[in-house]
Amino acid sequence: MDINIAPLLKQPLGTRLDLEVAESPIDPRGDNAGLLDASIVDIDAKFHATHTNPGPFFEGAADAHVAATCARCLKPIDAPVHADFAEQYYATIPVDTGVAVIAAPADAKTIGSDFTVDVTDLLREELILATPLAPLCREDCAGLCPVCGEDRNERPHAHDETTDARWSALQGLKDLTEK
Ligand SMILES: [Zn+2]
Ligand SMILES: [Zn+2]
Repeated sequence: MDINIAPLLKQPLGTRLDLEVAESPIDPRGDNAGLLDASIVDIDAKFHATHTNPGPFFEGAADAHVAATCARCLKPIDAPVHADFAEQYYATIPVDTGVAVIAAPADAKTIGSDFTVDVTDLLREELILATPLAPLCREDCAGLCPVCGEDRNERPHAHDETTDARWSALQGLKDLTEK
């Protein structure tokens, strides 16, 4: 979703613009479709842009769900993601004459002559950074059995006999080599 930031930059420094992006599920043909690129399935974000010297400063929080796979049992899940964020944007062109433009650092987010900010891009970036690397379907997911591959959440079990038999075979080998 593109936001025209020019009206904010014409207001006195410190002026705040409240913003909200909430959609569940994300419409593939809607304003927030860009979030689907990061497998974000729904979003509820409240943030604001403040007019600061270099340009708008975005700050707020986003809650979302990301389509993922449980790192232990490989079940498809919608992992909850929360991002608190603060991002400074630099206006590279003065919105009205007489206001000096502050040079933007090399890696800074900049705003060009259209004075728009794509907040979908901003939210997607922040949520990707906040997405856990190994999401779980639940905190105590028992995962797949390393011996038979069965889901231990559905059928808790162990393979004591098998592992014992293998272990004693190894132990026997060890005894032989040590003799
Ligand atoms: Zn799991
Ligand atoms: Zn098993």
